[in-house]
Amino acid sequence: MCPYCQAESADHALVCASCARDIAVPATLIAERDDLLRKRDQLRDELTRARNEVEAIMQRRKSR
Ligand SMILES: [Zn+2]
Repeated sequence: MCPYCQAESADHALVCASCARDIAVPATLIAERDDLLRKRDQLRDELTRARNEVEAIMQRRKSR
């Protein structure tokens, strides 16, 4: 079964006949990748917050 569009596909098919996406990658790897992408986005948010905090501290110092 295709993990993307849930269409039935032939056993050992490399590409989904329905959505044409690569389905040779095991579902566990896809889940792991999604998890990594989520973590990356979280880290990006944290980095943005940290930068804003540093910026705020710098601004405070300047105004003194
Ligand atoms: Zn598909």
